Formats: sequence, structure tokens, C-alpha cells
Amino acid sequence: MRIDILTLFPEMCDAVMSESVIGRARKKGAVEINFHQIRDFAVNKHNQVDDTPYGGGEGMLMMAQPIYDCFNKVCNETGERPHFIYMSPVGKTLTQERVKELSKLPNIAILCGRYEGVDQRVIDEIVDEEISIGDYVVTGGELPAMILADAVSRMLPGVLSDSQGFIGESHYSSLLEYPQYTKPVSWHDREVPEVLYSGHHAKIEEWQREQSLERTFLRRPELLEKAELSEKDKKILVKIKEKHSMK
Ligand code: SAM
Repeated sequence: MRIDILTLFPEMCDAVMSESVIGRARKKGAVEINFHQIRDFAVNKHNQVDDTPYGGGEGMLMMAQPIYDCFNKVCNETGERPHFIYMSPVGKTLTQERVKELSKLPNIAILCGRYEGVDQRVIDEIVDEEISIGDYVVTGGELPAMILADAVSRMLPGVLSDSQGFIGESHYSSLLEYPQYTKPVSWHDREVPEVLYSGHHAKIEEWQREQSLERTFLRRPELLEKAELSEKDKKILVKIKEKHSMK
């Protein structure tokens, strides 16, 4: 898969996306991530890419033309028009489900806003989708774009060392992950649950499933409506509900 990021801070993004799992995946070609400097497409002598908003108000807005020309360059490079996403607090909140769908596309391009955002006309003209990372505002679209690029990349074959490693993780099947422990068995008088070092795989799996259901019920009960639950899961949930209604 190819991901193109349009930004005023390509070096910052490249540095972050060159480390650890994603950095290694890029090196071995499991994902291609490119960064494009929007300022290179400014047409005025000061390379200005922002201007004051019509109607007044605080701050500056990114102008349409440099973004439009930058995206055209990306389209020419890829040969196929990428699905174009603008990271924006007014977009639909990102979910694991949307991440999974996006990871099936051959290429996506992501626009990072700055200042007070972007001239609406370029959004209307070329953006296919607006995505938010949550109900809060950060100073620029770079961190949101990297969150999206990271989440999409780790769904691709060859990115994680265990290529199906994401399956049991939180949100993949609408449940939260169970608690996990490493050595030592005892730390600050807190013990690792005995079942986890019993060597009994069926019991370990059962414990993990119960914990996952209980955590989801206590922290994000609305997720259970979307989760695929077996008859056994449903019986466990009845017990979990009884246990917590008695408290
Ligand atoms: N004036 C805008 C508003 O109130 O909706 C906020 C602009 S914000 C300071 C600058 C840029 O950061 C945005 O153009 C967007 O690209 C990015 N951004 C900020 N918060 C975001 C969020 N929750 N999700 C995705 N992108 C975000």
C-alpha cells in the first residue's frame, strides 16, 4: 500500500514514521509512505501558503491552490487517484472498523491542516473524506495523520512480526483486550493471576475471554452491542452483570 502525506512539516512526519515497527516496515517495503511539502507549490514570492479568512475572525487559513497543486503532483506520481482524506476535527471520528477498510485500498493520501484550517473550497473540490481523531483540537494535522497512517499500516501483511497479531487486540472485534502481565510473578505484593502460568492453554483462553468481556462491560458497554458473541459469551456476560449489580 502507498500512503502520501501532504504537510507543511514533512521532516517531522518522516522522523516519526522512520522509527520502530513502521520504520522497519517502510525499509522492507511492506508499506510505502511519502511526504510532500505543500509550501513547494506556493506561487507567490514569499512562498506564502496561508491568508486571512474572509468575514474576519482569529488566525489564518491554508489557501486552496498550493494544496490542489500538491495533490495533483501526488496523483501524477501514483498514476491512480488516491482516496484523499483531510484530518479535521469536524470529520467522522476514526474507528478500527474504518482503519480496516482503508487498509484494503491500494493508496490513500492524507492532508494535514495548520493554522485555523483549510479553505473550504479545496475540501469541496478534491477531498473524499474528513476524519477526526477525537473530540478535541490539536495544533496541526500531522499527529492525526500519523495516527491514521500508523493504524492503517499495522493492518498490512508484513508490518507486524505476527501478521495476525492485531486480531485479539482492543477494538478489532469490538471488545477491549484483557489485562496482561510479565515477569516477575510478584511485584509490590501484586500477584500475576495463577491461571496464566498454569500451562493450561484452554483455561488461559477462557480466563482471557472472561476478562475481556468484563472489561468491555465495565468500561465501554456500548461496544458489546457490535461484538460477535457466542452463546457461551452471553452466559458469561449474564454472570458478570449479576456480579456487578450485587456490588
Ligand atoms: N479551526 C479548526 C476548528 O475549530 O475546527 C481547528 C483547526 S486546528 C488548530 C489545525 C489543524 O489541526 C486542522 O486543520 C486539522 O488538520 C488538525 N486537527 C486538529 N484537531 C484535529 C482532530 N481532532 N482530528 C483531526 N485533525 C485535527
